[in-house]
Parts: sequence; structure tokens; C-alpha cells
Amino acid sequence: MATTPDPVEPQEASAPAPRPAAARKVTRHRGEGQWAMGHFTPLNANEQFKKDDDGLNVRTRIETIYAKRGFDSIDPADLRGRMRWWGLYTQRKEGIDGGKTAILDPHELDAEYFMLRVRIDGGRLTVAQLKAIAEVSEQYGRNTADLTDRQNVQYHWIRIEDMPAIWQKLEAVGLSTTEACGDTPRVILGSPVAGIAEDEIIDGTPAVDEIQRRFIGNPEFSNLPRKFKSAVSGSPLLDVAHEINDIAFVGVVHPEHGPGFDLWVGGGLSTNPKLGVRLGAWVPLEEVADVYGGVIGIFRDYGYRRLRNRARLKFLVADWGKDKFRQVLEDEYLKYKLVDGPAPKEPSGTWRDHVGVHRQRDGRFYVGFAPRVGRVDGKLLGQIADLAAAHGSDRLRTTAEQKMIVLDVAEDRVESLVAGLEALDLRVTPSPFRRGTMACTGIEYCKLAIVETKERGRTLIDELEKRLPEFAEPLTININGCPNACARIQVADIGLKGQLVTDENGEQVEGYQVHLGGALGLEAGFGRKVRGLKVTKDGLPDYVERVLTRFQAERAEGERFAQ
Ligand code: SF4
Repeated sequence: MATTPDPVEPQEASAPAPRPAAARKVTRHRGEGQWAMGHFTPLNANEQFKKDDDGLNVRTRIETIYAKRGFDSIDPADLRGRMRWWGLYTQRKEGIDGGKTAILDPHELDAEYFMLRVRIDGGRLTVAQLKAIAEVSEQYGRNTADLTDRQNVQYHWIRIEDMPAIWQKLEAVGLSTTEACGDTPRVILGSPVAGIAEDEIIDGTPAVDEIQRRFIGNPEFSNLPRKFKSAVSGSPLLDVAHEINDIAFVGVVHPEHGPGFDLWVGGGLSTNPKLGVRLGAWVPLEEVADVYGGVIGIFRDYGYRRLRNRARLKFLVADWGKDKFRQVLEDEYLKYKLVDGPAPKEPSGTWRDHVGVHRQRDGRFYVGFAPRVGRVDGKLLGQIADLAAAHGSDRLRTTAEQKMIVLDVAEDRVESLVAGLEALDLRVTPSPFRRGTMACTGIEYCKLAIVETKERGRTLIDELEKRLPEFAEPLTININGCPNACARIQVADIGLKGQLVTDENGEQVEGYQVHLGGALGLEAGFGRKVRGLKVTKDGLPDYVERVLTRFQAERAEGERFAQ
């Protein structure tokens, strides 16, 4: 899936001691639960369970108690709370329709199985790691595996009894589920072609590694007000959706200091979507982890903890403004002034997914390919790993667009690799529909879902390929199963928000609220909700075909769909 927001979230015990409020010159927001203001009394159930015990501690209980005694032995505060600190969410019970999602108690929606998310920082995988992921899927996850739009892999049907063996298998090859979910520093997005792309401004890989080493699984940062999403990319394609992360480092060239990163904070979708704001600061590679530490420290100490839907960093950034945020970062956390720096340039290409065959700067090639809406499976991932190895590659990448890439392919092996991928229905030259459509997990597994998404996305792609074979414009169609934003509907050309709608017979059926004209990049903005425009699931292909046909007929020279 795209990343699932936390339906009901957890809270902590051994909070690190923030600096005394007296030492700070800040505006008081009474009652927001900010630690920096001395508000340590939990103001909601999530803050309470995080205070009761650090989510990281649940691992020991899983291994020593729950895996031995089974699902029914799990403490409810662990089950629907702290399990997330290790990448586990309960899965939706089969057969409960979307109309009941908001009505039933959370426990009535719980299957006795889990979704498990594997974090893949920077999207980097070796062949051995991909094979381990594939084996876990086949052995423990009923062959499920989705590529998410945060470069993770997500399983379903996981039993608590199998978690010790799963961790053993994944960790043996250097993979982890630590803080893949929860109120934590989640996976660090990274350019999937970091270190190899010919046009790269700067390779952010050392910064991703340093952030991972210092902040992931660190109890000082394991009780944040909410999730904390981060991205680092030195690609001129702007390939990690930096605009919608809590913190992002975007490659730029400073006129005096050379390549480094432009700092963005406070992006996020879901409730009150906001694009990140530039602090106007240039950060050299070796200072990225320090600046990350400062920003996550501000979030931990000053972030709002009273209401879950106001707890993301974007609300603090909106209240403070960028000047105050930068000042607090410099004065209280970094203890030095950041260098002013330039904004990123317009993305150097229309697609940001790296699909297709591209030359690396060492003369070899990378090959990006597109499954449909990120849905793969364990068997297929094993085949991809074998195919990469057979073509001399030991490195693969996941992308923030639910795609994958094989790196380091010699020129004379490219054609054979492309043929092998295409034979697996993994398109290296996909239609714009397959390339540009993403879907979240949806009602198949997600407890918050109202409608189905993955299968609908797949059939929509197939229908549009049949109906509009000549359509060649870049296009994004993002499908969510509920009002949350896991598949980034607000920033898609066509965003489809799952809800129940009334069909022509007056029946309530699965359908979508349509948003049109969202975008990322320099023209970033949120799509307009088309007032009153809702489509039923069965009417979706006809509707999208009509929109695209009209666009083709009426567009001006050079006009893109989003303009
Ligand atoms: Fe996220 Fe909603 Fe989709 Fe679930 S149904 S994955 S919460 S957008």
C-alpha cells in the first residue's frame, strides 16, 4: 500500500528530557501538550500508552510471550498501539464492507493477522535482501507483497507466531522493520538512483546512512507526537516527493559552496494537507544528519500532542512560520547559523520514477520497470532477484512511485533483461496509465478503508490501455480507499478518494470523490475537489476516458494535463 496512516495510535514512558521551557523564547500554546512547555501529562489515549511503555520495548514481549501464546495473549495497548513500532498493524477482517468501517469498534475490524512493513531506507536492496523478502512472503505471508509509495515492502496475513522467524530471516541480510510505523522516524526516502545517475547533483547516500545510524531505533526519538516522514535526494528529477515530507533535503548547487541540499520542513497530506516550506538554508552533506536531528528534536519537544489530527509537524510550522522555525533550529538545537542557499530548479524531466533504460555514470545501465499499482508477490520478487543476478546485477531499488529498478547492467545484457522483465509482465516501456497510476492498500486489508483500490487500479489501467491506445501524455491517477492520503490523491492529476456514493438506482455503492489538477514539482499544488463530482466504481473507466478524451481534444500546444 501506500503508507497507511495510524487509525488509533500509541504513546510513551521514558521520554528524553527536553530543555527547560524557561530557557526558551517561544509563544505558549497552552494545552497543546508540548513537552517543551512542561506539558508531560498525557492528553489522550495514544500519549498515555506511549508514556506507559516505549513502543520499542514491545519486541521483547512479541518474542518471549505473544509469539508463544498467540494472538489472544496480546495486550490491547500493544496490539493496536506499540506493535507499530516494529512495523505491525492488525489487518482488516475479511468480508466487512466499507459501510461498516466507521461504525464498528476497532477490535471488531481486527483479523488475527497482521500487515507487516519492511523499511527499505533509500529504497536500496541487494539481490540477497530481495530474495529474503520474497521468501518471507511465500513462507509467512501467503505470497503477498506490495511495493509502497514510500519505498517499503508490505506483507499481509502475518501471524504473530511467525514474527521471531521473520525477523531472523530479514535481519540476517540487514533488513529491518524497526519503526516502520508508529509515532517514529519512519523510512528515509532516498533517490533510487543515488550514486549512479549521470545527472546527479549530489549523492545523499552517506546522509541516509548517518540518519539511520543515529536516529532509527533510538529511544530518544521513539516517542514523537506523530509519524515523522523524511526524504533525501540529490536528483534533478526531484524524485522523492519532497514537498509532502516532514523534512526533506533537496539537491542544489550553492554558487559559492557547491553541491549540497536545500532544506524543506512541514509537508504532509491527510488532514489539512500542506506543502513543505523552504527554510532558505543550504546544508552540506556532512551536516544533513545534524540538521535532521535538530528538526526531529523540535518536533519531539515542541510538537502538539493534544489532538492527533493536529500533531504532525506541519501544524507547528504553519503556526510559527519559517523564520521562527529556522531561528529555533539554529539557536536552540544546532547552535550555529545555517548558510542561506538557492531553491531547487524545475524538475529535469516529466516522469520522476526512473522507469525505462538509462545510462549510469560508470557506463553501465539501470532499468526501471512498472508492475501495476505496486502489486507484486513473493514469487515474482524472487524471480526479479534471480533475473537481476543472472544479468550481473547485485543491486535493486524501490521507488516512491511503486516501481522498481535493477542497477549495474552491462550494455550487452540490457536487452535480455528487458525481455525477461516484460515476460513477467513488468513493463519497461509502460503505457502512461500503468506508469502513472498508484493505489493504496484499500479494503482488502486496511481497517480504515471504505472501498477497494488495488484491483480497481489494475482494471482501470487495462481498460484505459484498450480504450486510449494513442494517449501518450504524462499523467498521474492516484486512488485512495478512504479520505486519508496514503496514495497521495491531493497531488495527482486525477485523485480518487474512496467513499460510498449513490448510483443511478439510488443504491449506496463503492465510488470516488474526484479531485483534479494536483501536482508536485515547482507547480506543486493540491487538486481541486470537483464539486459534486463523484463516480461509482463501475462508472470509473468511462469517467476517466471522458476526461482524458476532452483534454486531448481541447488542450493548447504544450499543455500538460495538470496545467
Ligand atoms: Fe490509507 Fe485509507 Fe488507503 Fe487505508 S484505505 S491505505 S488508510 S488511504
